[in-house]
Amino acid sequence: MSSQSLYKVSGNIAANALVNNDKYKTMYQESIVNPEGFWREHGKRIDWIKPYTKIKKTSFDDHNLSINWFYDGTLNASANCLDRHLAEHSDRVAIIWEGDNASEQRKITYGELHAEVCKFANALRSQGVRRGDIVTIYMPMVPEAAVAMLACARIGAVHSVVFGGFSPDSIASRVIDGKSKVIITSDEGMRGGRAIPLKRNIDDALKNPDVTTVEKVIVLKRTGGKVDWVEGRDVWWHSLMETASEYCQPEEMDAEAPLFLLYTSGSTGNPKGVLHTTGGYMVYASMTHEYVFDYKAGEVYWCTADVGWITGHSYMVYGPLANGATVLIHEGVPNHPSPARLGEMIDRHKVSILYTAPTLIRALMAEGKQHFDKFDGSSLRIMGSVGEPINPEAWRWYHEVIGHEHCPIVDTWWQTETGGILITPLPGATDTKPGSATRPFFGVQPALVDNMGNILEGENEGNLVLLDSWPGQMRTVYGDHERFVLTYFKTFRGMYFTGDGARRDEDGYYWITGRVDDVINVSGHRLGTAEVESALVSHELVAEAAVVGYPHDIKGQGIYAYVTLTRGTEETEELRQELRQWVRKEIGALATPDLIQWATGLPKTRSGKIMRRFLRKIAANEVTNLGDASTLADPAVIETLIESRLNRT
Ligand code: ATP
Ligand code: MG
Repeated sequence: MSSQSLYKVSGNIAANALVNNDKYKTMYQESIVNPEGFWREHGKRIDWIKPYTKIKKTSFDDHNLSINWFYDGTLNASANCLDRHLAEHSDRVAIIWEGDNASEQRKITYGELHAEVCKFANALRSQGVRRGDIVTIYMPMVPEAAVAMLACARIGAVHSVVFGGFSPDSIASRVIDGKSKVIITSDEGMRGGRAIPLKRNIDDALKNPDVTTVEKVIVLKRTGGKVDWVEGRDVWWHSLMETASEYCQPEEMDAEAPLFLLYTSGSTGNPKGVLHTTGGYMVYASMTHEYVFDYKAGEVYWCTADVGWITGHSYMVYGPLANGATVLIHEGVPNHPSPARLGEMIDRHKVSILYTAPTLIRALMAEGKQHFDKFDGSSLRIMGSVGEPINPEAWRWYHEVIGHEHCPIVDTWWQTETGGILITPLPGATDTKPGSATRPFFGVQPALVDNMGNILEGENEGNLVLLDSWPGQMRTVYGDHERFVLTYFKTFRGMYFTGDGARRDEDGYYWITGRVDDVINVSGHRLGTAEVESALVSHELVAEAAVVGYPHDIKGQGIYAYVTLTRGTEETEELRQELRQWVRKEIGALATPDLIQWATGLPKTRSGKIMRRFLRKIAANEVTNLGDASTLADPAVIETLIESRLNRT
């Protein structure tokens, strides 16, 4: 699993990339030894209204927590994404949009995007939105979602984007938490050929008697589908835009003024309202976007994440637009109407950089390579992965079938809380190993600690922590600073605890082993779920696997595996035995699954991550009180799994 499968940076890539290995090392060293000097320089990549003189005032001491970056400077995030490109690149395409139905296509230049954002910013003001107000955005994947976010930023309002797949209850809890006065939505959204009733979901959410703050609902007409209308409360986006002026001076914001609020995926429990501020976030999002994807002016960059996730914020809107990139936005899902869609879109728009998630790669793998027979892919240069550990098998498939073995893969580890990518290869600088997120980005100090908080040196495995702040770090849990301190800074004193476990190999590369809560303890040996799942997925008949521990009389914990087979494969007892032997051979006897349950689907968050907390309960036969299921994509999956759960012996 280590050096045998090293993918060397080709000389050609290194020669043209922003950094090579030597330069990475020098810059990294400088960023750690002299963070003030390093960030004083790199903070300049953002346009400041009043330049900062103070760089960093941070402490991870839980009694004296402070996180401040560039903190006497002022700026505006939307001006950094728009205005500063106008003088030279007003005609450059900022957004290429492809509808759920590929017959719908739009191109929006930086000049046009600037005008739309200014108008909508004025529209928001006309509806009573002021500096510091929290505006809830519940939109489909259309350019207007970015317009809405940037318009908030322009007038100093704080956006809280709620993913368009969430239910009325999830919307309500987020609106209540943020005390929003204004909601921005759309009549309907289109996803995979289906119309999603966004406005109706908002109407239902607002029927909740605990939602008391909302005064206005601004509605974009996307499909023209029928909607109910509340006079005085509901207003059409287009009627506000008809009269809005194209001139809107960006508000001068403090570096530490809130930019947005965003809830985590809820893989482990109740989502947390993560608050990000302006200056440090913009510096970090734009710098990571440029270095991690080796972004070059003029290239088409495609991030398949939804705008409702942090990846959609940092790497579809703020990072790339601050860098003047051309961003492809897709309304629907990249495997609809067929798995060929991903390749067709790359070829159609000559995409150079693709950023996606393991869940999509595994879904495509299960459908088979034949969908990429006609895929050319010659425009593609760099490919990224985010959201979950990527199984080496999925990594190789991505590398071969999509990247045609010439595109470096950046496996980017980060969190909603971190604002930007923290551990990742850099194209041209980092030899990659399938399944490893490799090395820290500039200014990032990861470490491994044991359960007592002792730092582990060298090749080792433990809890992944960060020893010092970086500019993109979250500043608080909105409305609950205590929870912020408790969740991240109390477990290991003086350190930020990520909640993830990791292994560091002989080259100093990090391998994320999964969430610490998911570690299985078999007869006193700790096994990461990611490792066992990867072994299962490396079998050609397995499409996806999720592994959890369950109470076992002799071993303490036994291994319970949920396995989804590739399309058309029969679920037989022989195959079950074969898979047990397979894992035994791949990892060792200790890791042999005790029980394998066939699963036609796995419970996932709406961002596609496997939710092991439900699987743990089903495996333990505790099916009466499963806990908060609001962030689950398809609740029916759970019922099916409960019905077909296995008898423990
Ligand atoms: P919650 O915090 O509410 O339980 P969540 O952790 O899924 O939800 P996110 O912030 O969306 O919310 O996800 C961050 C987590 O995703 C990381 O802590 C890690 O567990 C996982 N992750 C993200 N990228 C990678 C990666 N490249 N490799 C391994 N794991 C990753
Ligand atoms: Mg998390």
